[in-house]
Amino acid sequence: MARERVSIIIPCFNEKQVLPELFERLKALEKKLKKRWDVEFVFVDDGSTDDTPALLDNFIKDHEGRVVHFTRNFGHQAALEAGYLYAKGDVFVTIDADLQDPPELILDMLKKYDEGYDVVLAKRRRRRGETFFKKSTAKIFYKFLNFIANIPMIEEVGDFRLISERVRDELLKLREPHKYWRGLVFFLGFPTATVLYTRRPRAAGETHYSLKKMLNLARIAVFGFSDKVPSLVAGLFFLVKIFTIDSPTKWVLVVHAAFDVFVVWLILSLLFSIYRLLLGRPNYVVLRVVEGKQGALVVYSKS
Ligand code: UDP
Ligand code: MG
Repeated sequence: MARERVSIIIPCFNEKQVLPELFERLKALEKKLKKRWDVEFVFVDDGSTDDTPALLDNFIKDHEGRVVHFTRNFGHQAALEAGYLYAKGDVFVTIDADLQDPPELILDMLKKYDEGYDVVLAKRRRRRGETFFKKSTAKIFYKFLNFIANIPMIEEVGDFRLISERVRDELLKLREPHKYWRGLVFFLGFPTATVLYTRRPRAAGETHYSLKKMLNLARIAVFGFSDKVPSLVAGLFFLVKIFTIDSPTKWVLVVHAAFDVFVVWLILSLLFSIYRLLLGRPNYVVLRVVEGKQGALVVYSKS
């Protein structure tokens, strides 16, 4: 098989505590891949305010790839977009920095790629070390999303995935400002495989996905992948109205008001989304890019 380059894309936001262990695991992985793969690391420093930027710059000095520093925190999904844009490989793997996703699984993902799949998703067999709240809300949300979505989506997958170059090119062509990567790979519809893994607790530090960030991601997912929300809301409201119209108790009025508020919110947020689109602001701003070791002149062995 011809030698190819895999870009490992890692968004990092204040991850100084996990970086030493991450670096060790990445180096070990690089060794295991050496026979078939050139490896480059593309770290996206999403406006970290701890020692993350310096640690990343120091690591990349001795490795191929680069560190893309944002001017401030723009969020995980924006960091992934920059990762895809700045990566120069033939295959692209996105993985979290906190070792919840085991880097060693990339070996299995690349095997699937060699079998001819364009998309390989790491599917969570179990999630360990996450709060009951996080696990249950995620489960309910993904079931709901799948129920209302226009296209079927594989559940229990996050942003730990491999994509081929043609998938990357299609993704970067998309003009939508808020990209919900997890859904977009299903939208594109290339041959997809999954590999199973157990999601571990964070190696160190704390989650940076606040409730606000989670809700925002959920909104982008629903708006982007379902046309059924208006019919669902209208249908439900209609039913509530016909069953409660004769009994205007306080709670009935509260439910009616909740629906009114929800509809106003829905319309306003869609208007704001359109307004944002008109403004055309970028999803992130790059402060600087630190290039790693110059790609060594590799003499490709015939295979
Ligand atoms: N992350 C980021 N920007 C953010 C939040 C998170 O780049 O605003 C990164 C973070 O450093 C990690 C990945 O995205 O590599 C996933 O974040 P986290 O582990 O905090 O989320 P969780 O696993 O709890 O959903
Ligand atoms: Mg995490």
